[in-house]
Amino acid sequence: MVFDVLVVGSGASGLAAAVSAGRAGARVGLVTKGSIQASNSAKAQGGIQAAFAADDSPEIHAADVFASSHETADPQLVEVLTSEAPSAIHWLEELGVAFSRENGGYRLARCGGATRRRLLQVGDRTGHAITKALREVYEASPGALFEHHGLVALEPADGSWQVTCETKDGIATLAATTVVLAAGGRCFAEAEARGELSTNHPGATGEVTRIALDAGAEARDLDALQYHPNGGAWPGTMQGYSIPETTRAYGAVLLNADREEFTDSLGPRDAVAQAIVDEVAAGRGVETPDGRPAVWLDTTRIPVGDAEISLPYMLRRYRAAGIDPLAEPIYTYPVLHYQNGGLVIDTEAATTLEGLYACGEIAGGTHGRNRMMGNSLLECCVFGRRAGRAAAEKARG
Ligand SMILES: Cc1cc2nc3c(=O)[nH]c(=O)nc-3n(C[C@H](O)[C@H](O)[C@H](O)COP(=O)(O)OP(=O)(O)OC[C@H]3O[C@@H](n4cnc5c(N)ncnc54)[C@H](O)[C@@H]3O)c2cc1C
Repeated sequence: MVFDVLVVGSGASGLAAAVSAGRAGARVGLVTKGSIQASNSAKAQGGIQAAFAADDSPEIHAADVFASSHETADPQLVEVLTSEAPSAIHWLEELGVAFSRENGGYRLARCGGATRRRLLQVGDRTGHAITKALREVYEASPGALFEHHGLVALEPADGSWQVTCETKDGIATLAATTVVLAAGGRCFAEAEARGELSTNHPGATGEVTRIALDAGAEARDLDALQYHPNGGAWPGTMQGYSIPETTRAYGAVLLNADREEFTDSLGPRDAVAQAIVDEVAAGRGVETPDGRPAVWLDTTRIPVGDAEISLPYMLRRYRAAGIDPLAEPIYTYPVLHYQNGGLVIDTEAATTLEGLYACGEIAGGTHGRNRMMGNSLLECCVFGRRAGRAAAEKARG
């Protein structure tokens, strides 16, 4: 059988593409390297941006994205991202995602680099909630699912694509009129190669980008990797954990060894991460009990009520490890987190190759060389939906 649309990857972007291609009437297949639940998307905690506040607008959101990217983002992609954000949120709600609410509206936090409160959350398991809803919708659809199918080759074949996957039982070959690449970034593999910690799940190894490049697709900003300013540094079980940026949105601040604030804790990600590295290099950092460099994140400044609503998972994890972040500051240091660049796409998520689409972290341009928090889950939903729809239309001819 030849699928109309074959999606590679089961994170938020792949699931959004598969659901939207199915709804557009396409015969859809979804291949993914591990189980359908295995992805970075499912680990995302902090939230997803959309301009809902009375003093906000898609234009202000776009200006924040562009400024955080240091004017390197693609303005057309940014315009799509921010103007479709509210409708992507309503789409997720229709699929079953229940965002945290207060005072008759969404509970909104201000995240690093943002000039307005714009971050919607589902407690601190936003990615889990989004992927669960998308997964359940896809699993209830007629779309085919191939778990434990790792893409190893992609070749054009008479106006369609031949997709080769490695499975537990050997090589499997599938055919599709169009392919949507949604296989995420490479920060797990990159951190391993550098001997560093990463927030990423072990499937984030980047081979699909290489396969697309070998097939002739173009990429941009692939060298621009992002450090999450607040990796967990201690205790050992929290090393590499991404402490949600909502800690800082709700009042936590970064302190040096003298317990002095040394940077704007709500600055853009790259600026905050660099400030921490510089503070430690200048000898004003602290050392974890196992000798790692760190600074303090003073989480004791977060009001208990905010922490209980927006950080319950983080509190549970630290408390299980013997530390109460509401009673004492926690150790933190930047950790490899996100691939800013990726395959070149247009506003319909089409790559530079006919019939090949890309969405989510594998695609470049939307964030330029520095992403704001909360815009990746948004990108997955906005461009995943677009990719699925455009691939389905293309397959119809
Ligand atoms: C700990 C953590 C917290 C985060 N918090 C936030 C947040 O609060 N807000 C936000 O906006 N962003 C956040 N991010 C970033 C965001 O979650 C990711 O960038 C985004 O979810 C990526 O989605 P994706 O669908 O592109 O890729 P992923 O979710 O990484 O999914 C990629 C999929 O492709 C599969 N795959 C990989 N290689 C192959 C192959 N060869 N063949 C077949 N399948 C393959 C993988 O198994 C996986 O299913 C966070 C990231 C992490 C790691």
